[in-house]
Amino acid sequence: MPDKTSKAKKEPNRNGTHIVGVDIGGTNVRAALFDLDGTKLAEARNDTLAPRGPRTVAKQVSETIAKCLDKGNAAGASVAGIGCGMPGRITADGVVLWSPNFPSIEGVPLADWIAKPLGLPLWMENDVNVAALGEFEFGAAKDVNSLVMLTLGTGIGGGIILDRRLWSGFNAGGAEIGHHVVNPGGRKCGCGNHGCLEAMAQRDAIIERAALKIQTGRPSLLAQKVDSQVDAITPALIADCAHEGDEICIETFAETGFWIGVGIANMINILNPEMVIIGGGISEAGDVLWRPMLRTVKAYAIHESRLVCQVVPAKLGDDAGVMGGFTLVRRTLEAGG
Ligand SMILES: [Zn+2]
Repeated sequence: MPDKTSKAKKEPNRNGTHIVGVDIGGTNVRAALFDLDGTKLAEARNDTLAPRGPRTVAKQVSETIAKCLDKGNAAGASVAGIGCGMPGRITADGVVLWSPNFPSIEGVPLADWIAKPLGLPLWMENDVNVAALGEFEFGAAKDVNSLVMLTLGTGIGGGIILDRRLWSGFNAGGAEIGHHVVNPGGRKCGCGNHGCLEAMAQRDAIIERAALKIQTGRPSLLAQKVDSQVDAITPALIADCAHEGDEICIETFAETGFWIGVGIANMINILNPEMVIIGGGISEAGDVLWRPMLRTVKAYAIHESRLVCQVVPAKLGDDAGVMGGFTLVRRTLEAGG
């Protein structure tokens, strides 16, 4: 059974004047040094080298943090703590139970491996949970107490904050909004199920939707642009063509927006949050996505709950991860002492 108190047991350096936020992705790791007010002082990036295994990943992350401290002329002793986000299911102790794009990492105490050479306290959470904290503290949700965050990309991630508290779930599996089923029997999902929100609206589902329409032989600006090569299709290209009035692309995003709208309406009906934040590259498709998405929310969300819930784009972009990491540590500082 996971030890739910372990986060509280780990103590930040209460004399610290700096916090480091870290965003660990499948390809890159990014670390940012902040003062205690959240002003960014320095930043460093590096390759994650995930295919080389968890020992290499831990080393890359530790070195990136050290480089970031160097750049900001900050001694390790001045650091109150480090907050990291990474994809997957991560326990309160910083053990990775599962993570996409990180081979052989199951069961690895990655937080300890990263922290050891640095000798600094380190907290780790799922990346979208961390991004939700970032948006909550600094971004779109500064003035609310409850929110649901969705990130739309190669997968669909979720984060939930209720009464100002992050809900990670009983054993680190909470807020997997991408894997709630919106279309039973629908497209197969990476999790093995069918019709998950992620399966219906992730990047590949959008491309597949457009490709199938092109293959029927309907005239399309998109088909012209990719010279009928479906592997050249990207969601950004579909969005561009939709904005130029291409019917196939407009339909593609209308269908995608419908499924995401169903997912959002479900979250509104279950949680009655004040805000739903939509981030990730696909969320930048514009009105061609947002109009059908919001229309569907209006159709399926309970009226009184929808009226008080703002559905808005994320504000922090790529900074949500490091700013959320900062928030993870600052909350620990504020919680005790
Ligand atoms: Zn799934």
